[in-house]
Amino acid sequence: MPGISSSNLAIAGGAAPLGVLSHTPAARATTPDVDWKQVAQDLAPMACDLGAASIRRKSRDFFWFSPVLSHQLSDVAADIVVTPRDEDELVRLVRYCVGRGLPLTPRGAGTGNYGQAMPLYGGVVVDLTALNATKWLKGGVLRAGAGKSLLEIEEEILPHGWELRFHPSTWKTATIGGFVAGGSSGIGAINYGTLPQAGNVLGLRVLTVEDEPRFIELRGPDVCKAIHAYGTTGLITEVEMALAPAIRWSEFVVSAPDIMAAARLADRVAHADGVIKKELAAIDWGGARYFDDFLPYMREGQPVIMAIIAENSVEPFAQMVAEAGAEIVFSRGPDEDKLEPAPLWEFCWNHTTLQALKHDRSITYLQILFDAPDHLDKVARMAEVFGDEVPVHLEFARVDGVVKCFGLQLVRFTTEARLEEIMRYHWSNDCPVFNPHTYVLESGGGAVADPAQFALKVEVDPYGLLNPGKMPGWGAPSGGFASRVA
Ligand SMILES: Cc1cc2nc3c(=O)[nH]c(=O)nc-3n(C[C@H](O)[C@H](O)[C@H](O)COP(=O)(O)OP(=O)(O)OC[C@H]3O[C@@H](n4cnc5c(N)ncnc54)[C@H](O)[C@@H]3O)c2cc1C
Repeated sequence: MPGISSSNLAIAGGAAPLGVLSHTPAARATTPDVDWKQVAQDLAPMACDLGAASIRRKSRDFFWFSPVLSHQLSDVAADIVVTPRDEDELVRLVRYCVGRGLPLTPRGAGTGNYGQAMPLYGGVVVDLTALNATKWLKGGVLRAGAGKSLLEIEEEILPHGWELRFHPSTWKTATIGGFVAGGSSGIGAINYGTLPQAGNVLGLRVLTVEDEPRFIELRGPDVCKAIHAYGTTGLITEVEMALAPAIRWSEFVVSAPDIMAAARLADRVAHADGVIKKELAAIDWGGARYFDDFLPYMREGQPVIMAIIAENSVEPFAQMVAEAGAEIVFSRGPDEDKLEPAPLWEFCWNHTTLQALKHDRSITYLQILFDAPDHLDKVARMAEVFGDEVPVHLEFARVDGVVKCFGLQLVRFTTEARLEEIMRYHWSNDCPVFNPHTYVLESGGGAVADPAQFALKVEVDPYGLLNPGKMPGWGAPSGGFASRVA
C-alpha cells in the first residue's frame, strides 16, 4: 500500500508532538520570472524538454484516483523537464538550480499516487529514468541506478536464481527509485512486510541539493529517512536491495461464500508457514465485479481471494480452500503465459482501484490498517457499518513477524464531507487511515512530519527546493515561486 510503512506506523503509536516541527528555508534572492529557454540553453547538452504536452504529461501522476486531488492538482505543471544522462549531469543540474533558486521535483515512471511526483510550485521536473545501470549483483543483493525499471531488474536477476522480495502492482512500469521514494510494499508483503523493514533496502546513494551538492550513502535504519519521503530528502541515484530466492509461482482466484469467509481463509493461509505464498488478497464482490479478465471464471455476487502460491504448496493450499467451503475458480501454472487474463497482481493492491475506475469514475479508495491481533474483527465491524458503500479489499502482510491486513477499501464517493466522515469513523474504531486524498506527506495519518525525515531534509535541502509543498511544516521554496495548487 503506497501510504503505509512501518516508520509512519511507529509514529502513529508514538504520538510525539510532531506538529511543532517547522522550518523556513534559507533565503535566496531570485525571481520566479525565469527565462526557461535560457535555462535549456545553459544546461545544454543536457536533455531539456520545453514542449507543453510532454511537460504536462511528466508533471502528472495518478493523483486523479482521488476526487479531492483531482480538483486541486489538475493545473499543476512544471516549466521544464530535464533528463540527466548520468550523475555528473545531475550534479551540474542541481548546482545550477540551487544557484538560481529553481524548484526540483524528482520523477521515475510517474505511477505514484497522491500527486507525490507533481511539481506544486512548477520549476524543473528531473526525470531520473536514464540513471538505469545495474551496478552489481552478488550474494542475493542488487545495486542499481534509481531509474531502472522493476521489470528490467527482474528480467536480469531471474536467470541468476533471484527475484524481487516484493514489488508494486505497477511492476511493469515503475522504477526502483520511485518505488523506494514513493511506494510502500506490494506483491510479496506477505513474506517481507514493507520497504522500511530492516533488511529489505540495504543502501541508498543520495545527492544533496546544496550550493555544492554532495553524495551521501544512507545505510541501515537511515534508509528510512528517504523511504516514502517523496524525494523531499534528496535525489536517490542508486538503490541497494536484498532479493529473494526465485520460486515457481502459480496464480489462483478463489470464490468464497462471503467476505468474512474469504478473509478468514486468506488469514489461515497467511499464518500457515509451510504454505509458501507471494500474494493474498480478499476482495468483496463490490470490487471483484470490475475484474473483466476474470469475470468468466468468477461466481456472480461472491467475493474472491487472489492468491499467488508456490508450485510445491498448491496441494495444502487447495486443501485449505476446500475446508473453508470455498472453490478455486481459476488457476494458472508458472509456465503459462500471462496475457489473458492479465497477471493476477494487476487486480491486486492499487490495481484493484484502477480496475474499478475503468468502469466507474466516481469510485475512489482508502488506505486503512487493520492491525493484529483482532484485524478480522475490525474488518467485520467496518464491513457491517459501511456495506457496499466501502467494498472490502484486504491485502495480507507479515510485518515484523505479525500477520495483519492493509485495507485498500474502495469507496463509492459522494461528497468530501462523507469521505471525511468515513475516515473519522475508522479512526475512532482503532482502524488508522493513511489518507490518500492529500498530497502532503503524512505520518500516522495526520499532516505531521516524520522527525528523522525532517532532520535529513534540514541537512540536504537548505533552500527547500526539493519537491516543495509535500513535507508538512516546511515553508515554500526560497525563490519566491507561487503554488500552482487550485
Ligand atoms: C494502479 C496503481 C497501483 C499501485 N500499486 C502499488 C503497490 O502495489 N505498492 C506500492 O507501494 N505502490 C503502488 N502504487 C504506487 C506507485 O506505483 C509505486 O509507488 C511506484 O513504485 C512508484 O514508482 P515510479 O517510478 O512510478 O515513481 P514516481 O511516481 O515517478 O515517483 C514517486 C515519488 O518518488 C519521487 N521520486 C521518484 N524517483 C526518485 C528518485 N530517484 N529520488 C528521489 N525521489 C524520487 C517522486 O518525486 C515521487 O514523489 C500504485 C499506483 C498505481 C497508480
